[in-house]
Order: sequence, then C-alpha cells, then structure tokens
Amino acid sequence: MQPKLYVAPSWHTTHWRPEDITDEQLKIWKEETILVIEKNRAIHAENMKKFAQLFGLVRDLFGTKSIQEKYLLKNDGGYAANWHSYSLNFKESVEDKVNRCRAEAEKIKKTKESEKEQLELLAEAVLWLKARGRALGLDFSAENAIQTANDIAFFEEVERRREYIRKNGPIGFSGQNCDGPCSGWDGESKRCECGNRRVSWTYDDLSFKDPSIYGEAY
Ligand SMILES: [Zn+2]
Repeated sequence: MQPKLYVAPSWHTTHWRPEDITDEQLKIWKEETILVIEKNRAIHAENMKKFAQLFGLVRDLFGTKSIQEKYLLKNDGGYAANWHSYSLNFKESVEDKVNRCRAEAEKIKKTKESEKEQLELLAEAVLWLKARGRALGLDFSAENAIQTANDIAFFEEVERRREYIRKNGPIGFSGQNCDGPCSGWDGESKRCECGNRRVSWTYDDLSFKDPSIYGEAY
C-alpha cells in the first residue's frame, strides 16, 4: 500500500520564461492551480486517513510508544507528507515574476522613446539654428544646440513682443497689484508705468519650438 502521489501544476513542471507569458496563459495557469490545490487537498485527506488506519494497526499490534510506532511517526512513507511542500504560491512563483519582467521591459521601452525624442529635438534645433545662419561647430555644438536655440528664441520673442507693445501700448503683467492706477509694462523698462513694481520677462518651460514669455513682477 503506497500513499497517493500529489500532483503539480504545469507551470511547476515545465520550463518557462516570464517574458513569454501572456495574460491568457496566466489565466489558464491560475485556474489550473486552483484545481491542483483542490486535488492535493483531497489526496492529503485520503493519505491522512490511510495513515491513521496504519497507525491504529501498529498500536493494536505493538501497543503504545512501541519502537514500531516511533518508526512510523518518523518514517511515514509519505502518507502524512504535507502537500504544501509543493510551492504552490501562484502569485509569488508566477504572477510577480511576470509583472516584474513586464515593468522592466516597459521601463526600457520608455527610455528608448525618450532618447529618440531627444535626438529628434536636437536635429530640429540644429536645422532651426542653421536657418538663422548659425554654423554647427562654430556658433554652437551638438551638446548645446537645444539650449542655444532656446536662448535665441527667447531674445527673438522679447523683440517681437516689444515691437507689438510699441504699436499697441503697455501690457499687463503677472503680479500687477500696483497701489494706484497703472497702465502696465512697456516690455523694456525695469519698472511698470506707475513705477510701483519691478518687472521683467520670464517663461515656463521655454522651447525654441514654442517660445512663450510673459512679464512678471519680482
Ligand atoms: Zn504699476
């Protein structure tokens, strides 16, 4: 009479790589694992029942605390072996591994994308500077092309806005809370029209592709 053997799910007995596991596969394995656990629980109950019978028999034959009883407790022949010794923690053994692998792949993909975007921006900056008569290697380098383009775009935009103000009059500015009446800022002076606030040009995330600037009190 042999104890009934426990069963193992296929993810436990086959070789697999986390990067190859699809959601569909995860679902199949998860369902399989639930069935396997149910099966092993039943096998364990059956084995324990048989072991109890065997134990009873030994006691009947040899009395309690016999050497045979001791031997049986120590070497139960696998009857009472706990089926949890099969590592059936599906989450830890499979799901977590797959998720870690996916997160890592996503991170690498994002890094590559941002490197590509940065390279494209650099190419645009070089063309943008060349269109303004700036020579690569002379007026700017690949390392500072984007920053140089941004700086030039800032000064160009300041000029453009000043031109507008000269034609249309002073503009409002951020932090304009002068005490008396004030028509705003001319885009050139250090102070607003009433003289109450110091003002200068500033920006948020300025780019040569979108050089938005505004006046701000400081
Ligand atoms: Zn003012």
